[in-house]
Amino acid sequence: MEKQYDILVAGAGYAGAVAARALAEKGKKVLVLERRDHIGGNAYDCPDESGVLIHKYGPHIFHTNDKRVFDFLSRFTGWRRYQHRVIANIPRDNPEVVPARKKTDGRFFFPVPFNLDSLKNAFGMEEGARLGQKLLDAYPAQSQVTILELRRNPDPEIAAIADYVYGHVFVRYTMKQWGQTPEEIDPNTTARVPVRLSQDDRYFQDAYQGMPLEGYTRMFERMLDHPNIEVRLGVDARPILKEARVPVIYTGQVDELFNFQFGPLPYRTLDFRFETLSQDCFQTHATVNYTVDEDFTRITEFKHLTGQVLPGVTTIVKEYSRAYAGAEGEIPYYAIINPENNALYARYRAEADKQPNLYLLGRLAEYKYYNMDAIAGRALELADRL
Ligand code: FAD
Ligand code: UDP
Repeated sequence: MEKQYDILVAGAGYAGAVAARALAEKGKKVLVLERRDHIGGNAYDCPDESGVLIHKYGPHIFHTNDKRVFDFLSRFTGWRRYQHRVIANIPRDNPEVVPARKKTDGRFFFPVPFNLDSLKNAFGMEEGARLGQKLLDAYPAQSQVTILELRRNPDPEIAAIADYVYGHVFVRYTMKQWGQTPEEIDPNTTARVPVRLSQDDRYFQDAYQGMPLEGYTRMFERMLDHPNIEVRLGVDARPILKEARVPVIYTGQVDELFNFQFGPLPYRTLDFRFETLSQDCFQTHATVNYTVDEDFTRITEFKHLTGQVLPGVTTIVKEYSRAYAGAEGEIPYYAIINPENNALYARYRAEADKQPNLYLLGRLAEYKYYNMDAIAGRALELADRL
């Protein structure tokens, strides 16, 4: 079946779709096989029953410093100017402290990543400003420091700030998300959300940020709309790949590709609970992190992300994380990066390397914690090489 194609691609997410388009434009005939009934991978969005545009597999915000990736994607979508801002919503453990911005119900909030303003919300204006100066004496202004690094600072007052941030931002959220403490997980994971020596309350500081104007799915539709690309949905590529005589780009789970022969790679999965509410707006920010209590990690309200105007209705999603067990319908969202799992991945990788025409690409196939832009960049590079 693959005879009239130059390349087979398994998966129509960022990895598969970007690679397919880039190769198609180089004159290759590409067949894309996608197991789901839609394109876009985990970035897929669609209207829910009330007409609110939702992200079915969790909130996705585009951000990158990679101009090549931004320019490439911009051929298939315009962008809504959007900068993601997140707050932590926390029960007040010390009613004596008057936060800079009050909340009435015994809870308060501060920007995440934790910054100089977060200090004021947590400790009150004066004390917060004093502690902020303390940090600025120790670290360059506008810089950022990871929580694990901050905790190693020998100064007792800075150590106390670090303990506060650790206790109110990181430890419980990380336990919910990973079932492990910040020390036990890959340090690059908590480093994604550093402590900021500035008042910058944006979640990302990348040069290019935004949301696709008509959504991710529309962007993928345009990307895959090329005379050299054929997409087949609802097809598991694995049986077809076995007989392929042409190069194969595989973007699914590598352990599954090799029938779990060395045992399954560990992942975290998420349960998304969507709620549609009869109100214009549910919360002040697109995403609110519950860093101290609740069983879910965060609540995202999609209308803030997309800018969709739809009076009297809004949809939110709560994210519950748990271990992936490989059950029917469960989705492996996050690779659990640690030396043991990396070693297991390396065994699968070595199997794949025995097949000269097989290219592993993407968050699952490479068992990495990649953002969308990183995957798009890798897909463009692979297309160059091929
Ligand atoms: P996927 O999107 O998983 O696509 C792989 C595709 O391959 C899937 O469609 C799958 O069905 C298909 N497939 C698998 N096996 C087979 C098979 N055997 N045959 C056929 N098809 C197959 N990144 C950001 O930059 N910003 C964000 O805000 C952001 N938020 C995120 C939030 C959550 C909750 C999660 C989980 C991830 C988030 N990401 C975000 C990361 C982003 O989702 C990934 O970087 C991106 O989706 C990776 O693309 P991919 O193509 O590698 O994988
Ligand atoms: N994190 C945290 N508290 C927060 C936000 C993040 O402890 O309020 C930690 C947590 O371990 C999380 C990691 O930082 O898994 C990375 O956060 P990010 O928001 O980048 O995660 P993602 O959006 O990829 O799930």
